[in-house]
Amino acid sequence: MKPSIYGLTYLELETWCLTHGFKAYHAKNTFRWLYKKRVSSFDMMSDLSLALRQAYDEHFHMEGLVEIDKQVSSDGTRKYLLQLDDQSMVETVLMVQPYGYSVCISSQIGCNMGCAFCASGLIKKSRDVRADEMVRQLMHVQKDLDHDEKRVSHMVVMGIGEPFDNYDHVMNTIRILNHDLGLAIGSRHMTVSTCGIPQGIRKFANEPFQVNLAISLHAPNDELRSSIMPINRAYPLKELMSAMNDYFKVSNRKVTYEYILLKDVNDSVAHAKELAALIRGQHVYVNLIPYNKVEEQPFEQVSSKQAQLFFETLRKSGITATLRMEHGADIDAACGQLRSKKLKGCQI
Ligand code: SAH
Repeated sequence: MKPSIYGLTYLELETWCLTHGFKAYHAKNTFRWLYKKRVSSFDMMSDLSLALRQAYDEHFHMEGLVEIDKQVSSDGTRKYLLQLDDQSMVETVLMVQPYGYSVCISSQIGCNMGCAFCASGLIKKSRDVRADEMVRQLMHVQKDLDHDEKRVSHMVVMGIGEPFDNYDHVMNTIRILNHDLGLAIGSRHMTVSTCGIPQGIRKFANEPFQVNLAISLHAPNDELRSSIMPINRAYPLKELMSAMNDYFKVSNRKVTYEYILLKDVNDSVAHAKELAALIRGQHVYVNLIPYNKVEEQPFEQVSSKQAQLFFETLRKSGITATLRMEHGADIDAACGQLRSKKLKGCQI
């Protein structure tokens, strides 16, 4: 099958045009047709020469992803189950935030990180999601929002998969979406979330763009973290914190630590104090996340009283924190739930 044109960065498209007998500026018109006018075929790019349109058609395709399912929550969250060209499926979520429309994309088909609380890890990774497939997830949601004349303003790589296990495709996705002639999503409006892979964090620190970094921390000590996040056995907290120190030296962006509150596991006042001691002095804030119940797993959500106590303990210890709201609680909102249900043949 021909590659998708949505996988090319602006520079790559310029190079392609030049090496195929066209002009570099043709990339400009093409990006505009793809991302601003959002046409669905090369034929519709009416100000490009017939020769260029035919050349595109010979070398690329520009199909969108196939929507297998879409759930809409009463709070506006839309959850899409999308099929890729090889029939694999990914989940993409649109969240309505006070500051705009934020899309959460998946970076791998399944995930190998095996976090004990996460539905995505129930199905092992079969392959990485390519840049064109991540861009097309965004395009799918943007085309849906076009009906309401709204625009995707934020993007988070927090769906299924570990982005730093698919580094190059994730970076190309950012380049394409961030481009002025692309969807023009500001780099400060994009966030990449990782379970904590030190090489990825150091590389990311040196990227020229100002994309936000989120770290899934979820525990304040090695024993506990290793018991719920296997990645911690490969890269214990000392190594993660050392990578973070390097990150802070290079980047001036504030980092988010994600912390899911799991009842009687990591939610005590002692845990909050231990967490505060671990990250004190870093340019960060902690995002406390309510656990989204996954049937197969033994964890439970904490009471709002306990969550509040944890939050207050952090605050008194001088750590900035937020208690995140749940999105799409009335649909299959937990990471990977929709896809794993579909794959198990459940009615959705
Ligand atoms: N692999 C990356 C990105 C995908 S997970 C990472 O680990 O960050 C995105 C976020 O959702 C992570 O913080 C993850 O820990 C969290 N998450 C996973 N399962 C969850 C659940 N059942 N309830 C709430 N948050 C969950």
